Amino acid sequence: LENSAYNQKIEYTSFGNLGELVRKDFPILNEQVNGKRLVWFDNAATTQKPQLVIDRLSYFYQHENSNIHRAAHELAGRATDAYESAREKVRAFLGAKSVNEIIFVRGATEAINLVAQSWGTQNLQSGDEIIVSQLEHHANIVPWKRLADQKGLVLKVIPVNNDGELLLDEYAKLLSPKTKLVAVTQVSNALGTITPVQQIVAMAHAAGAKALVDGAQSVSHMTVNVQAIGADFFVFSGHKVFGPTGIGVLYGKEEILNATEPWQGGGNMIQDVTFEHIKYHNAPNRFEAGTGNIADAVGLGAAIDYVTKIGMEVIGQYEHGLLEYATNLLRPIDGVRLIGTAKHKASVLSFTLKGYTNDEVGKALNQEGIAVRTGHHCAQPILRRLGVETTVRPSLAFYNTCEDVDRFIAVIQHLSRQKR
Ligand code: PLP
Repeated sequence: LENSAYNQKIEYTSFGNLGELVRKDFPILNEQVNGKRLVWFDNAATTQKPQLVIDRLSYFYQHENSNIHRAAHELAGRATDAYESAREKVRAFLGAKSVNEIIFVRGATEAINLVAQSWGTQNLQSGDEIIVSQLEHHANIVPWKRLADQKGLVLKVIPVNNDGELLLDEYAKLLSPKTKLVAVTQVSNALGTITPVQQIVAMAHAAGAKALVDGAQSVSHMTVNVQAIGADFFVFSGHKVFGPTGIGVLYGKEEILNATEPWQGGGNMIQDVTFEHIKYHNAPNRFEAGTGNIADAVGLGAAIDYVTKIGMEVIGQYEHGLLEYATNLLRPIDGVRLIGTAKHKASVLSFTLKGYTNDEVGKALNQEGIAVRTGHHCAQPILRRLGVETTVRPSLAFYNTCEDVDRFIAVIQHLSRQKR
């Protein structure tokens, strides 16, 4: 990794250079697909891993592998140190006050289910209201809908305008003393809309409600500070921020976590057990029952090191330029309908192309080595609100380049010309 972007001081000069610098750190980006160099435009589904993360995982299994916490031997110490140092890296990455606020889980989905099933079950009663937004991924709808059905809660929805932006005036009207939780995404995975989470959280708090922010699509594109956002809970998945699959994070304010009953029971999460009485640890351990995903937590720590060294500000600026470049080329193509035209967007270009099914467009792109997602993107309510069932969704990351965009645009232009 000596020559990698990770070890260079990245000077942000123009939006043209970062992708070229970092892409050599990601070995999979040299893959050939249908005889062409892979263009990975499926970053909203999952991101590729830098060599540093791949090496960190293999170093763990070669030199550190052990269960954590419960042993006097050397490797238990190494594994525990590596795992807990990853927790500190996540804390710093999110700007949390304490490592006790960082709980390792399987991903954003598990984190939201944890909050619904522990905090939600304990604190919400029949007639209480939960507010989500029209933009949500199913992971931030289904756990709340299930809880609402179980407990007789009312689920309300912040509507959007035709650009896919949340209507805050309508949100204000939904808030009431009955509102107990507001759960919203910071970036929409289907449209790329960036939502004003700080304001949304402040309005929730003013109404006496708690707030959960889904950061699954935001942490890889912008600097996040959970204290500035003010959220009571914040969730994200490691695999969407250049880390391994199977690891993610629930951030929660320490006083809330310690007042919340654990979700799962088992080893690691208890201070003392008899057949009559169980005393739980405080957070984070009370929410980490059993053997967790130790190696992948360590791998996530390495991914955070990587993006932090390059700088989330630099990454955000670069991607903003790239998204603008791609949008300006895509929008005028005959037959293209952009779905999601918010003023503030990150990473995502959802669209349809007249005369083709979305699947046909996805396959034509794959033929040229370009990977995009087609489908409903686990966000059916927002797509239906904008009049479609599915879209083609290229989603960008900081290792993508203008050349990648040009190759993508050439395919769409070619398809468009054939039907006109
Ligand atoms: N929230 C959003 C906005 C997402 O985009 C996703 C995944 O696409 C999730 C939650 C769920 O993430 P995971 O499947 O990693 O748990």
